Amino acid sequence: MEKYDLIVVGAGPIGLACGIEAKKAGLSYVIIEKGCLVNSLYHYPLNMTFFSTSERLEIGNVPFISHQPKPNRFEALEYFRRVATSWELNIQLYETVNAVSQHEGTHKVSTSKGEYEAAAVVLALGFYDLPFLLNVPGEDLPKVRHYYDEPHPYYRQKIVVVGAANSAVDVALETYRKGAEVTMVIREDAIRDSVKYWVKPDIENRIKEGSIKSYFNSTVIRITTDAVEIKTPEGNKILENDFVLAMTGYQPPFDFMKRCGIQFHDDDYHTPVYDETTMKTNVPGLYLAGVVCGGLKTNKWFIENSRIHAEMIVADILKK
Ligand SMILES: Cc1cc2nc3c(=O)[nH]c(=O)nc-3n(C[C@H](O)[C@H](O)[C@H](O)COP(=O)(O)OP(=O)(O)OC[C@H]3O[C@@H](n4cnc5c(N)ncnc54)[C@H](O)[C@@H]3O)c2cc1C
Repeated sequence: MEKYDLIVVGAGPIGLACGIEAKKAGLSYVIIEKGCLVNSLYHYPLNMTFFSTSERLEIGNVPFISHQPKPNRFEALEYFRRVATSWELNIQLYETVNAVSQHEGTHKVSTSKGEYEAAAVVLALGFYDLPFLLNVPGEDLPKVRHYYDEPHPYYRQKIVVVGAANSAVDVALETYRKGAEVTMVIREDAIRDSVKYWVKPDIENRIKEGSIKSYFNSTVIRITTDAVEIKTPEGNKILENDFVLAMTGYQPPFDFMKRCGIQFHDDDYHTPVYDETTMKTNVPGLYLAGVVCGGLKTNKWFIENSRIHAEMIVADILKK
């Protein structure tokens, strides 16, 4: 069994930052990632642009040069590949961590490929793997998607976009501008206030002028191969439909975290228990880093403001 000072679960930006700090401190470490490098970013929409300027996404003092002040997904993938290469990070890709258990101060980490031991473990799991489901009949049809990549497949198609936050708005606008017939079905009575301030007027004006149809205070109740039935304040309606893009958000892997022994606050966000100065959870030697720390408040932590977690964790490990 391989033994390490630190095992980092997840090779997202913050998992990589933890690996860099471990390496700087001379700790033995490995980062274990179930998908490709920066797996979540890889699955973001192809044409997305980050809301942060590139220097605010930098880790490990590796400069992030982009063509525009705000980088796009392709530049970010290039950047994080460059970071992993220049720091010669020890990363195992396409290996899923199935369990982390602690016994007498040592953590046993069981993966799809083997078992490891570590004095400390960081869970930098992100939140992008588990979409919130609509839980309606027909959700398992192939025309229903919880991830969006690019607009081309939706050209001249009747699409329903579910949701009113940033992802839903971006998808509605991009597919509309590339020739889709877009209807938004929105549970709330307005586009969310959290939508990027430079995008919100655009979607509101498209809705006002009728080029994007919208049903507020409405929910999807059934999906069939050629239609979507929705519940609106004016009664149920059946919309002709080719594709449903359910942009209803994602959630951290709470079950996995619970199985690791992590406790949660009894609050609206199911926030995991951790010490905000060290990132240590209630399980000794088990740390949280990155966006996963916010629980269901998935916009609380992002790359910009959680890069610092890596330094806090390694400083705490070195104290011992
Ligand atoms: C469309 C979009 C735009 C964004 N723009 C910005 C921005 O401009 N600026 C900004 O600061 N933030 C932005 N964010 C947020 C940012 O991308 C996330 O906060 C960031 O990815 C968090 O990094 P992380 O390392 O905590 O998690 P992630 O990047 O999600 O990484 C978690 C990793 O853990 C892996 N993993 C999970 N479970 C396991 C397991 N059991 N075993 C092994 N590996 C596992 C996952 O595959 C994943 O690679 C954006 C997010 C989205 C969705």
